[in-house]
Amino acid sequence: MNSYMEQTENFVLHTYNRFPVVFESGQGVYLKDTDGKEYLDFAAGIAVMGLGYHYPGFDEALKGQINKLIHTSNLFYNVPLGDAAEKLIRVSGMSKVFFTNSGTEAIEGAIKAARKYAFLKGGKPGYEIIAMNHSFHGRSVGALSVTGNPHYQEAFKPLMDGVRFADFNDLESVKAQINEKTCAILLETVQGEGGIYPVKKEFLEGVRALCDEHDLLMILDEIQCGMGRCGEMFAWQAYGVKPDIMTSAKALGCGVPVGAFLLGEKAAANSLVPGDHGTTYGGNPFACAAAAKVLEIFEEQDIVGHVREVAPYLEQKLDELVEKYDCLLARRGMGLMQGVVIGNGKKVGEVVNAALAQGLIVISAGSDVLRLVPPLIIEKKHVDEMAEKLAAALN
Ligand SMILES: *Cc1c(COP(=O)(O)O)cnc(C)c1O
Repeated sequence: MNSYMEQTENFVLHTYNRFPVVFESGQGVYLKDTDGKEYLDFAAGIAVMGLGYHYPGFDEALKGQINKLIHTSNLFYNVPLGDAAEKLIRVSGMSKVFFTNSGTEAIEGAIKAARKYAFLKGGKPGYEIIAMNHSFHGRSVGALSVTGNPHYQEAFKPLMDGVRFADFNDLESVKAQINEKTCAILLETVQGEGGIYPVKKEFLEGVRALCDEHDLLMILDEIQCGMGRCGEMFAWQAYGVKPDIMTSAKALGCGVPVGAFLLGEKAAANSLVPGDHGTTYGGNPFACAAAAKVLEIFEEQDIVGHVREVAPYLEQKLDELVEKYDCLLARRGMGLMQGVVIGNGKKVGEVVNAALAQGLIVISAGSDVLRLVPPLIIEKKHVDEMAEKLAAALN
């Protein structure tokens, strides 16, 4: 294991303090490291591996596409692109989709679509976006500009102009930032990196009403909380509040890099046109074959229904642990996106390391939250195993 870690540290730019584990293979909801040690995976590659490892039929679909064609460019049509798009439009109820390679690129596209919408309406540039404090939308400069975390931004200023921040779940603070230059309000339906905070229904409805009143576009970032994780295909569907633009990525390709931004009818008809936006890789046949297969499996196997069935059991088991251990202060979350606040002198990093030693992968969110975002295919027995291992780690 050491030689792989050393080789990586010698040649890969040091932008991550990695845990000292080298993973080599996976099966279902388990990973194996190069020493043959097995881990129960409650991180899923940061909410990416919704279907776990080697879900029946998924590898075969990828291999089948590799045998045909993996790239063509967007100057031509390809076979899986329309299929993936149709399926994603069907489950989201949105109108049009643009495929990207990552979450941050999906946010870039959403920002551009919102600004173009306002530009077409007002005839001049200079429009502003209201984003939330403690949000996370990605690391490219546009997405970083709407990420409400000064620590991530500081060294890279000046960032994109025209961004104002409001407090998540505080409608008055949003209202206070609206002016004649505002074109969109952007938020995560469930804040992920910021510490697993689900949006409050009144707040989401209030933002929707403000957007309708001022003809602003409501942009929901569903990159982490979407794709079934919160018990609906997209978390906003649980609230009955529909965005004008939404972003997806992470579990959309279940390990194959693919993201997307989707526009509702109004935004689709009045924003980006040929020449406004592009990507070399985005929507390529390989990525789209992955997304199409993921969406097919979700539908045929009712993955969302399974999440709804197993999530209450995860909540119950976590609540029991919070009850029992003084260093666990609270649990919050939605579906299979759960956070446990760590305190009373314990650091979340210590808990993550102790869990790893017990053969359990969990990660952190924010400075003091233990994040559990397992593959969506976990069963009750995996929740039991997680609870035992986490208890052993805490002991
Ligand atoms: C991970 C994440 C992103 C960024 O996605 P990348 O693929 O890392 O660029 C954006 N928004 C949210 C909510 C995320 O969780």
